[in-house]
Amino acid sequence: SETLRLEGIEKVYNRGKPSEVQVLRGCSLAIQPGEVVALVAPSGAGKSTLLHIAGLLDTADAGRVLLGGQDTTGLSDRKRTAARRADIGFVYQFHHLLPEFTAAENIVLPQLAEGVPQAKAEARARELLASVGVEHRADHRPSAMSGGEQQRVAVCRALANGPRLLLADEPTGNLDPETSERVFGALMSLVRDTGLSALIATHNLELAGRMDRSLRLSDGRLA
Ligand code: ADP
Ligand code: ADP
Repeated sequence: SETLRLEGIEKVYNRGKPSEVQVLRGCSLAIQPGEVVALVAPSGAGKSTLLHIAGLLDTADAGRVLLGGQDTTGLSDRKRTAARRADIGFVYQFHHLLPEFTAAENIVLPQLAEGVPQAKAEARARELLASVGVEHRADHRPSAMSGGEQQRVAVCRALANGPRLLLADEPTGNLDPETSERVFGALMSLVRDTGLSALIATHNLELAGRMDRSLRLSDGRLA
């Protein structure tokens, strides 16, 4: 079944107040297993809102989110959290790595939280780091790494627990063009090698063109 399906998603902020704004006005999409889809939109169009709803970090005012064919609408908070942890990896514009831990530890910790044994989690962390070319940074803290290295570690952390879906919000938006290219290349090859699905928000039309297809978000609707 489809990895992700959104049906008629609507979102209003500050309802009933003068500052009320309807950000999403009926967004629908379906992402098949292994498909990599670009989400292209100007700043403020609602990309982050859509990704947060798709990732079960926020709820829609109307519409449905289905993960692996399962409707998540009626789920308790506990079940939503469990579904998110099991199925979804997130990458943001800024790495959000834990500053007091090394690169490897940042990838080990989410695995320990899911009950993976320490030795297995460490082996996986080092394997992931090697796959994006930053194995030599495994024992460094984020502050000792370049922006591109930090972001590649963040990609590894997102994939630590083997999600079915990667949601990325401008993953290279904070990087210079050359670094952006390296991070995007690493992200794409890891996604292709693992066969997972991805929805990747970007302003960069060249990067969008290298994904399987692009969706545009404007006026609260997807096209
Ligand atoms: P994008 O990621 O495309 O830049 P966002 O989804 O972050 O867009 O925001 C879309 C719109 O919703 C913006 O106008 C923003 O100011 C507004 N918005 C986002 N989050 C909130 C919030 N928590 N409360 C009120 N308005 C918000
Ligand atoms: P980003 O997507 O770059 O991480 P944020 O999600 O923090 O940025 O915010 C995206 C937009 O939503 C910004 O324009 C921000 O001002 C707006 N926004 C975020 N939270 C709120 C809020 N609580 N109230 C109003 N606007 C918000």
